[in-house]
Amino acid sequence: MESFGHVIAGEEVASADGATFESVDPWTRAPWATVALGSADDARRAIQAARQAFDDGPWPRMSFVERGEVLHRLADLIVANAGELALADTTDMGKPISQTAGHDVPRAARNFRFFADHSRLTPAETFPMPDGHHAYTQYDPAGVVAAIAPWNFPLMMASWKVAPALAWGNTVVLKPAEQTPASATILARLALEAGLPPGVLNVVHGYGPNAAGQALTESPDVARITFTGESSTGRAISRAAAANLTPVSLELGGKGANIVFGDADLDHAVRWAIQAVFSNSGQVCLAGSRLYVQRDIFDEFLARFTAAADALVLGDPKDRATEIGPLSSREHFEKVAGYLDIATAAGARLHTGGVGDGWSVRPTVVVGAGQRDRVTQEEIFGPVVVVLPFDTEADAVTAANDTPYGLNAMLFTQDLSRAHRVARALRVGTVWANCFFVRDLRAPFGGAKHSGVGREGGTYSREFFTEPKAVVMEIAAP
Ligand code: NAD
Repeated sequence: MESFGHVIAGEEVASADGATFESVDPWTRAPWATVALGSADDARRAIQAARQAFDDGPWPRMSFVERGEVLHRLADLIVANAGELALADTTDMGKPISQTAGHDVPRAARNFRFFADHSRLTPAETFPMPDGHHAYTQYDPAGVVAAIAPWNFPLMMASWKVAPALAWGNTVVLKPAEQTPASATILARLALEAGLPPGVLNVVHGYGPNAAGQALTESPDVARITFTGESSTGRAISRAAAANLTPVSLELGGKGANIVFGDADLDHAVRWAIQAVFSNSGQVCLAGSRLYVQRDIFDEFLARFTAAADALVLGDPKDRATEIGPLSSREHFEKVAGYLDIATAAGARLHTGGVGDGWSVRPTVVVGAGQRDRVTQEEIFGPVVVVLPFDTEADAVTAANDTPYGLNAMLFTQDLSRAHRVARALRVGTVWANCFFVRDLRAPFGGAKHSGVGREGGTYSREFFTEPKAVVMEIAAP
């Protein structure tokens, strides 16, 4: 068994009361690590350390160049320790090693490099005033940032929050999801090795409600809360944060529509549609889990899509050849499997797929569902896609917009005007036209409707993680 502690004030420590919990490998279904189980008191200890590092430590007072050097060293160490980090996430949650090693860990390193450079290179505004004054914006670090992360991209989501918070001079308490604690502790160890001063990045493990997570959201010493997770948790966090009027950034659930028009390049559309809903066993907020296909190509598309889904390689996530691993936990497996029953009970049919071995669900294609069925409306967060036909562009847009979520949508067409027209009509935070998951880290990322509050990325992260201050000076007459 491996062991992972909290990291508070530069030390890896146990919980004050000595409590621990076990992280279970969903492939072997056996515990593989013992983890410190943080209480509200442990969270407060971590906030205190972050507060002290912010009030008295060097980090908020260092130049962007100096901070950037530390963050680039951390990125180098992430790359140097990529094997350990990838294995930690793969063992904690069952994501295939090809995806943790090939995507998540490199992207985590890139997040640190990007925000280090972005904070150093982005100019602030000046406002020359004609009346003998001059105004400019100063972006002050906000203070202690609470970063609460989900289990589906453990290291990558943590870095998406921690990197901009640190780059803009804040100190951080990171609470990873209880299902995926390991990579957060490893990240904090590497941060200390990179030269991050003690107390600047703290990690506290544990559960959310009535525990470490909730304590972070209720503290008057926390200046910003950045959260990624379920929409229902986002609501609870908003309510808790309201007591102190703490600004929140919420990246929440999704039920992504993927619209394939009759004129699309079918091979291309099938390839992306498969990736959009089955990578990471569909445990992706951005998953294209509602697939709307124009009626004239419906049968042809469904046949090709089903063949590609059936060809995906299921198995041990530590095997390089595996494309689909198990679901992240027993509880989550039961939830996803339950949706297969909900779909069929409502009259839909499993065209392919179904429950697999252990905690696995095979790539599952649901046909014959209605637009208002639960399987079409609710986030399943598994390798389950509902395929529905549509007739006109207007019908596709109406159906795509018809869920409480608004995180993202995809569309496949060769008609340029239609791509722009539909992109404009979709009520979502991101539209991918003829692609999926491609990101420019300067662009806004976040969700509309119940998929989120606020945006992160580039200057959007700067707005959230700083206190923009207007400074107005008189230019005195000689
Ligand atoms: P979750 O909401 O159950 O938990 C996320 C985190 O919040 C965990 O660290 C958990 O311990 C903590 N938490 C739970 N209740 C809390 C409370 N009351 N106070 C403080 N913290 C609390 O989400 P999850 O199951 O880990 O992640 C899956 C969800 O995340 C899906 O809905 C998915 O769509 C969403 N997600 C969204 C994005 C995005 O960018 N929009 C990205 C990834 C995942």
